[in-house]
Amino acid sequence: KEPETLASSKEPETLASSKEPETLASSKISTSTVVSLNDFQQLSLLERFRPGYLWVTDLTKQNWCEQQLFYAFTIPTVAVVEDTPVMKAGTDYHLARELATHDVVKVDVQSSEDIWAVKMLNLHSAVSTFLHGGNVAREVPVFGAPFNENILVVGLIDELRFDPLNYTIDLNELKTRQYSNLPSHAQKKQHSFQVSLYKTLFDDLVKGRVSKQFMASSLRIDLHKELGGSIREHAEKQFVEIKTLNDLMDIIFHKIQTLTCISQVFIEYVHQESKQTIGHVEVEYDVSEVSNLYKRYVQFWRGNRSAEGVDIEEAWKCQRCDFNSVCEWREKKAKEYEFKNKQKNKL
Ligand code: SF4
Repeated sequence: KEPETLASSKEPETLASSKEPETLASSKISTSTVVSLNDFQQLSLLERFRPGYLWVTDLTKQNWCEQQLFYAFTIPTVAVVEDTPVMKAGTDYHLARELATHDVVKVDVQSSEDIWAVKMLNLHSAVSTFLHGGNVAREVPVFGAPFNENILVVGLIDELRFDPLNYTIDLNELKTRQYSNLPSHAQKKQHSFQVSLYKTLFDDLVKGRVSKQFMASSLRIDLHKELGGSIREHAEKQFVEIKTLNDLMDIIFHKIQTLTCISQVFIEYVHQESKQTIGHVEVEYDVSEVSNLYKRYVQFWRGNRSAEGVDIEEAWKCQRCDFNSVCEWREKKAKEYEFKNKQKNKL
């Protein structure tokens, strides 16, 4: 589910396909926890399907339609087309861009600690790139606990650009499109939320707001476990001598805190066929908006409220939803709409 790959020589990292852990793919409950089906269903969505951490992409899917996200986890019998030709073209284009900045190498991983060390090394590589005069880093892992909610969230930033003269870092998220026009308002809103979360995570790392202990307890990993030989070998190629994740995280957290927070956030829309840029959209980072949305989404993950579908104004989303034939939210809204219309006609 997560190919452990490292960027070699030139630059950092990469976890190309860990970007979109498709909903059910990594939705395993800990094998050490044996629970009855009944007990399992009583657990929150977080405990059932995302023990340890949430992906930014989980939250962006939730931003599109929370009910759809819920069904994707809980009704696996409804066929969901995951890899359309359009999605594949988008993935290929992302990979091509990534390979333009660094090579990707496979790393032998033996434990959860090794897996996380790969992510850390990828982040370390990006940070080192900037500290040694480089300007661009792609596929940069970020993680943290946004807005003090005590839930680990992990993401992968498409591209960071460092300007050493002005000492600024900009974020550039790449979105490929089948059609050569800019996306709808709903899509732009979703993309803005995604990149705002990336900025939050990166900035929190720069501000030293992420602790090793929090990472270890969320992921149930041992910071002092000796890392595999392959990991240590790759660390040496980045001029890092480590034995454990504890060593590695000390180095990364120290280095990243010498950088600066993200100044500007952009989304670049590229037409898949022509590879032409359709437009660069600057996203205004509104901390209270992102924070309020995030806190509301977290309530759902923790089981403090039920899933909600789209509002009537966004009912067009239902037309191309895999779950529209079983969606109770949609049915309820349709009845409410019908009732209101009848009442209006009576007046
Ligand atoms: Fe959401 Fe509509 Fe799909 Fe229901 S049918 S899950 S409300 S998009």
